[in-house]
Amino acid sequence: MVDFKKAFDILFFLLNSNLSVLDILYVLNDLKPCCRITLSQDKLILLKNFCDKNKLELGLSDYKVVPVSNRNFSESYKRVPLNFEINTKGSFHVYISKDQEIIEKAKQFQNEKNSSAFGKLLGYPSCCCNFFSNNESEARLSNMDFTFFYSLSNQFFNFYNNYSLRSFDISLLSHFPCSLDCPNSLRIAKERSSFIKTFNPDLASSFEKHLKSCVFYTDSGIYYSSDFSSNLFSSITSLEYNNLFSKSINSNNNSIFDFLQNNKNQKLNLKDFSQEFDIIAKENSKQKNCSRIFLFN
Ligand SMILES: [Zn+2]
Repeated sequence: MVDFKKAFDILFFLLNSNLSVLDILYVLNDLKPCCRITLSQDKLILLKNFCDKNKLELGLSDYKVVPVSNRNFSESYKRVPLNFEINTKGSFHVYISKDQEIIEKAKQFQNEKNSSAFGKLLGYPSCCCNFFSNNESEARLSNMDFTFFYSLSNQFFNFYNNYSLRSFDISLLSHFPCSLDCPNSLRIAKERSSFIKTFNPDLASSFEKHLKSCVFYTDSGIYYSSDFSSNLFSSITSLEYNNLFSKSINSNNNSIFDFLQNNKNQKLNLKDFSQEFDIIAKENSKQKNCSRIFLFN
């Protein structure tokens, strides 16, 4: 019987990331067949020890990776050869599974850049794998961020599918859902939330608290408030938010943050406010399609 609480603590000490730790625990608890994390070379031995003790197989990429941005997306790394001269020792993509054959296949699909087959092997729903491969070439131009491919017809979603806080190390999903209403992603997220509750109820409730948020998403920074209210059923939808968490991608632009700060604690007309927010976001971006407001409950 695996002591998941202890496993979480050991892995967190090593990886310092909720999302990477949880990905390994999902594999350990048979919630997904394989995962891929990024790990610096100096920590490999410790992870290998953990895997050996827990009967997990571990495989390394045939290349190293170096980060290309400070944004915490899985694809925000550049591949470099194993002998590449870099200041740090560099990192590897590390594949973890109970089955060595799955690891070999994952490496093969990734080398072939077959993202759809790779995603399915990692347990992502096929609707989401198709969404990923259909939009992949366009997403490559915007830091592999698929958020702007979501339709604007609705702004209210179930918090389980909130994938926009992953750069804050908060998410129940390891993949971009094909839509924020994707039922297959919802099922996976619920299953994982129940699992986390069994060994770390504090983390599960912290995730829930933060995921139930209104998210002000731009391609230059992500801001959210987990203390907000909105009258969903009225003809004019209002929004009021209080506390604000932020992660700015470009430290030079504070105008989005200032705008959001100035509108705190006020009853806003969501439609008008979204338009104003979009104007401010566009001033900080070269892209036309660069802002979204999502409400998760
Ligand atoms: Zn889907």
